[in-house]
Amino acid sequence: MNPRDWQPLQLIISFLVAQWLALLLLVAGNIIIRHLTAEITCRIATLQAPLYRTSVSHLVPQNAYCEACGGFDDLGAALRCSTCPHQYHPDCLTPEQRAQRAEPDPSAGGHRGGGARAPTGWVCPRCTRRTQLGKYIDKILASRGGGAAKEYRLKWVGLSYLHTEWVKLSELEEAATAYPGLRRRLAVFEAKQKEAAQVRTG
Ligand SMILES: [Zn+2]
Ligand SMILES: [Zn+2]
Repeated sequence: MNPRDWQPLQLIISFLVAQWLALLLLVAGNIIIRHLTAEITCRIATLQAPLYRTSVSHLVPQNAYCEACGGFDDLGAALRCSTCPHQYHPDCLTPEQRAQRAEPDPSAGGHRGGGARAPTGWVCPRCTRRTQLGKYIDKILASRGGGAAKEYRLKWVGLSYLHTEWVKLSELEEAATAYPGLRRRLAVFEAKQKEAAQVRTG
């Protein structure tokens, strides 16, 4: 074959290759742009959501659903926790839970005896319980069960022995992530129990 006959064929092949390359670039470019757009939209949504300081002191966006029922609808009137990302439909809470307010921050607002206390927001049932376990255990009275079923009988600050409560270890451990002192108290209680058992058997 004469090399001159190859020329039109070469032209056609180069044209086809160039076309494929152009198509490939177009598809790749499209994917990259879509990815970037999604990323930017997500960033903007995160920035627009109200931010809350968690117990470990970092900012997180508000959850988009009711913590009690998991519903996404009718959240306009929802109560938003001032100390965590959870929100609740008013109807998904008891009147007592709806009335729960955060404790005034001792580091914020006014001099002693003088200035007004900083206004405090609503606090969800979970955060209320965590604060109760972290701050208001007067005494650990007893324990029962073992492993996952382990429970502790607690006496609360300001309440009599008529109001003691059995609380699961898992719940105490959850509260201890925000109140590490709780873990220490449990350890001290366990050490004393062990000591008492040794006295009984020895
Ligand atoms: Zn709900
Ligand atoms: Zn909360």
